[in-house]
Amino acid sequence: MLNSFLLLAEAVFYFGTMVTLFGFRNRIGLGVFVCALGAMHFLETYLASVFYVALPFGMVSPGSAVLFSGKLVMLLLLYIKEDAATVRQPIYGLLLGNALMIGLVLILRLHDIAPLPDGKLPDIAFIDKMGWLMAWGTSLLFIDAILIILLYEKLGKYLRNALFTRILVSVACVLTFDQAGFFTALHFIAGAPVAVFLGGWFAKMGAALAFSIMLVAYLRWFEARQIPAPRGLSDIFDTLTYRERYEALVEQAGRDGLTGLLNRGRFDSDGEAAVAASLRTAKPLSLLIIDVDHFKSINDRFGHAEGDKVLKSIAALLGEIVSPEDQVFRIGGEEFAILCSRPHPAARLLGESIRHAVKTSTSTSRFDITISAGISTVGETTRCLADLFALADQRLYKAKSTGRDRVVGEPGGNEADGRNTWTRPERSVGA
Ligand code: GH3
Ligand code: MG
Ligand code: MG
Repeated sequence: MLNSFLLLAEAVFYFGTMVTLFGFRNRIGLGVFVCALGAMHFLETYLASVFYVALPFGMVSPGSAVLFSGKLVMLLLLYIKEDAATVRQPIYGLLLGNALMIGLVLILRLHDIAPLPDGKLPDIAFIDKMGWLMAWGTSLLFIDAILIILLYEKLGKYLRNALFTRILVSVACVLTFDQAGFFTALHFIAGAPVAVFLGGWFAKMGAALAFSIMLVAYLRWFEARQIPAPRGLSDIFDTLTYRERYEALVEQAGRDGLTGLLNRGRFDSDGEAAVAASLRTAKPLSLLIIDVDHFKSINDRFGHAEGDKVLKSIAALLGEIVSPEDQVFRIGGEEFAILCSRPHPAARLLGESIRHAVKTSTSTSRFDITISAGISTVGETTRCLADLFALADQRLYKAKSTGRDRVVGEPGGNEADGRNTWTRPERSVGA
């Protein structure tokens, strides 16, 4: 009875202190709350490995029942009141901080340790054991934290107006999962008996109930009311796993700095993949190569900076005209390429609308800008990107040599023969 009461007192003391720090986050900063959360981690693992009390239903550690369960609830609170981008910081911080600690313990044990005057020596074997328990516990916590947030969101669909049930079910499910995982390690590393599993599980369910009541009470009385509408699970998962940073990096790597369009490197890689996909699925694929006419004279007359602005405007125009599934690349100074899933006549129409748009758009028409384009489509003679590119390029050459301001596709279209006045700049695919 005394033990149960003390556990409850510990939970109330822990919860009360932590939510006070959380409640003052706007004045003292969220860092105070997060650091306090991290500081409790050591005590929690220490207690979970050696400190147990007997309750009527089994052996219980305040480390697991109070501190661990409480930490998970704190992470959930952080998610509910802040967002996934905030809660992922302590989740990763705890994981990496523990990895650092284990690394340090590995070095520490190499010391030639001096005994203290009273003959005491550190229990390195204990630290080893705790280190692994901590590593396992933290890995589990990492999964638990992501799980509890996803589960809480998933339940939002069915329990939008039942906050208490929603929180209780999320916490109880994840603590059950955690107890199974943590006990397995405790059993093999510390030889914990089955009574510890059952006792721990009962205690965690009790903690889930107590913390859920306290959390709902806190949210009702001390925090602003509105609970946001449920978000897509994959969206939250992507945020929790820092996916947008990764995607931004990948995106950045393949983008042209001036126009933001995909760059030449991406053209070579994506183009090859698109041709292969087109051959495999028999879906049409056309390539448009667009070159701005007499662009050098824009630079000469208005300066390089104006020239850059024109290139940006053209890039923006291309982005507006193509369909979302088409890809636009800047493959050279004033040369652009478009890969589109259209048969040849449709690609030609696209080329014509681009030519028309550049001529009439307010951002480019004041410079009397025109473009020339060459178009090719995947077919019998063009079965790789190099072939497709060579053919479109040859047709662009023809467009230039027959007077510019035109789109040239398969023979039989609108192009006419003329004098060759255009000198080819050197280029090759994949170089
Ligand atoms: P045409 O294609 O019609 O034969 O004539 P052009 O004047 O466009 O010919 P060319 O391809 O030889 O010249 C391209 C010019 O584009 C040369 C260079 O000064 C300019 N250019 C290339 N990259 C950039 C850029 O990033 N910014 C600016 N402002 N100009 C660029
Ligand atoms: Mg050029
Ligand atoms: Mg040009």
